[in-house]
Amino acid sequence: MIGISVLGSTGSIGKSTLDVLARHPDRYQVVALSANSDVQGMREQCLEYRPMMVAMADPDSARVLSRELAAAAPEITVLSGIDGLKAVATHESADQVMAAIVGAAGLVPVLAAVEAGKRILLANKEALVVAGGLFMEAVRRRGVIVLPIDSEHNAVFQCMPEGYEQGLDGKGVKRILLTASGGPFRTLPVEELASVTPEQACAHPNWDMGRKISVDSATMMNKGLEVIEAHWLFGAAPERIQVVIHPQSVIHSMVEYVDGSVLAQLGNPDMRTPIAHALAWPERMESGVSSLNLFEVARLDFEAPDLQRFPCLGLAFRAIEEGGSMPAILNAANEVAVAAFLEGRTGFTDIPRIIGKTMDSLGGQAADSLEVLLEADAQARETAERLLAGPVT
Ligand code: NAD
Ligand code: MG
Repeated sequence: MIGISVLGSTGSIGKSTLDVLARHPDRYQVVALSANSDVQGMREQCLEYRPMMVAMADPDSARVLSRELAAAAPEITVLSGIDGLKAVATHESADQVMAAIVGAAGLVPVLAAVEAGKRILLANKEALVVAGGLFMEAVRRRGVIVLPIDSEHNAVFQCMPEGYEQGLDGKGVKRILLTASGGPFRTLPVEELASVTPEQACAHPNWDMGRKISVDSATMMNKGLEVIEAHWLFGAAPERIQVVIHPQSVIHSMVEYVDGSVLAQLGNPDMRTPIAHALAWPERMESGVSSLNLFEVARLDFEAPDLQRFPCLGLAFRAIEEGGSMPAILNAANEVAVAAFLEGRTGFTDIPRIIGKTMDSLGGQAADSLEVLLEADAQARETAERLLAGPVT
């Protein structure tokens, strides 16, 4: 039996992961789960999957869950806070850890899983954006395997040659072609962007996801974060990563070789495919995803991204080029601005303005320690909140 811990089990990726695992009960055992504050969701998962340990990041939620499980499942240990998340990430019976917490909050737990030598199934792209250099250094030092869950990076991984970790040039890899749907506002008149609502932003045409990543897809910050993610995962300079708008989301990404070959991974847009791929790797197993019907798809379209419409994409390229703590600043300001937009405290087109101003006012520095990066994250959150409180120009 392969033991699995799921960080962020009550979210969109967490639920899809448990759905795939439930199809293979003879092969996988769910050993530990974590969530933030969704007590009801976690209680249901506890009763269905019977993990040994669960953690709620929010202490009050942990207390309520603990009381509720006392009679129904007294054998389950309930922990709380960051120590609880780390205990889930490093549980001795876990061989693999699904990192599916949203945002920079997932960084410390996933780093603990790396240090504990676990195989990492990485959905939490923000962890790599904030601390990609430190993360990859720890991965190499501990010799752990990281399998990307983000559909684009999972596709790139599937199209990469063996030994790509030693350098793309030596393996004849020319470029990574990262596909993007363009989100719900790809064709909306630009002057209407300022008045779009959270509900419109979260109604993604192809993917059913958590609210934060849905807004990121609408601003295309998601693709910007993914460029940074691909840079770290595949050792690719930003100029070797081309974003390609592909509205059907059938090609999940491509790798171009020096001989002109372009390899692509295709499939229905359902996260259970990359999840099952990573869980079973290097084998393959059923995911519950239906066959791709190319006759129904009928056509595949491509276009270049419009940086006027999607300034967040340009900000992400700027952050990775400046390097150091700048990607952490970009990410933190984005998290604050997106939360404010979802709460109705700011407009959609204020999101890139707040991020750009936060980057301008803080400036990056060398990212040589976790402390420096967490400090940059905290300062950027403070600055972005201050900008939100005043008039944004
Ligand atoms: P979600 O909002 O649906 O779920 C997030 C999970 O994290 C929940 O279990 C929540 O309880 C937990 N969580 C939230 N804040 C936390 C905190 N402060 N501390 C501890 N736990 C916390 O998000 P999602 O859509 O499942 O996305 C998860 C991650 O996967 C994100 O990094 C996202 O970018 C990435 N991802 C998601 C998809 C997708 O299809 N949903 C695709 C690619 C990548
Ligand atoms: Mg993606």
